Amino acid sequence: MKHDLHTLTGAYALGALEPAERRRFEAHLRGCDNCRSEVEGLAETVARLGSAAAEPPPERLRERVMDGVERTRQVPPRLTRPMPVPGRPATWLATAAAAACLALALLAGVAVQRATDERDRAHALNTEITAVLAAPDARTATARTSTGGSLTIIASPTLDKAVIAVSALPDLPSTRTYQLWHLTSAGPRPAPLLRPTGRDAIPVIDRGLNGARAFALTVEPSGGSPRPTTPPIAQLALPV
Ligand SMILES: [Zn+2]
Repeated sequence: MKHDLHTLTGAYALGALEPAERRRFEAHLRGCDNCRSEVEGLAETVARLGSAAAEPPPERLRERVMDGVERTRQVPPRLTRPMPVPGRPATWLATAAAAACLALALLAGVAVQRATDERDRAHALNTEITAVLAAPDARTATARTSTGGSLTIIASPTLDKAVIAVSALPDLPSTRTYQLWHLTSAGPRPAPLLRPTGRDAIPVIDRGLNGARAFALTVEPSGGSPRPTTPPIAQLALPV
C-alpha cells in the first residue's frame, strides 16, 4: 500500500486526499477505532475553520520572489552561499540553515520512528495538527499548483506554526525537492521542504512562521535552497 493508512487522518480531515486514496482510507476507518476517533476530533476543528477561498499574495511580495529568482539564476545556488561566521547574529543564512536542519530533522525523525513505532509518530503528528486547527486564530487557504495538485496551509500565528498539506503533486527526480517559502517584506524566507513522491498526503508542520501570512512553493535542488531558484508553482496568502 502506498501510505500507512493510520498516518492519513490529518490529510483526510483537511480534505487533502485524492478520491482513490480517500476511498481506501474510508474503508480503513470502518475497522480502526483509533483513526475514527482522531478523524472525529479533527473534523470538528476543520468545520469550525470553514472554507476560505485562496487569495493571491500581494503583488509587492510576488515581485520580490521573482526578484530573488532572477538574482539567484545568475550563479549556481551553492556558489552564492558564503561560509557561516561563528557567533554572527542571525541572518537569512542562519534562517536558511535552520530551515534545512528542521527539514532534515523531520525526515530523519520520521525515518527512525517509522521503523520503530509508526503509530506513535502518527499520533504525535496528529496531536500537533489538531492543536493548530483548534487555535482560535487559525486561518486556512488552498491553491492549485501550476504543475498539478494542490497546496493547503492552515496557520496559527499565536502557536507560530502552520500545517502544510499537499495533494497529488507530480513526482520529482531524486535530485529535486518541493520547498515552501514565507513571503515577507524582506524577501522570501526558506520554509520546510515537502516530502515528495509517494507520501505527499502526509502533512508537514511548519514551525516558526514569524508572522508570515503569504507563502510560495517552488521546486529546488534536493536539500533545499537559501533562495528560490525557480519560479513559484503556487502562491497563497492567508485570509486576515
Ligand atoms: Zn487506523
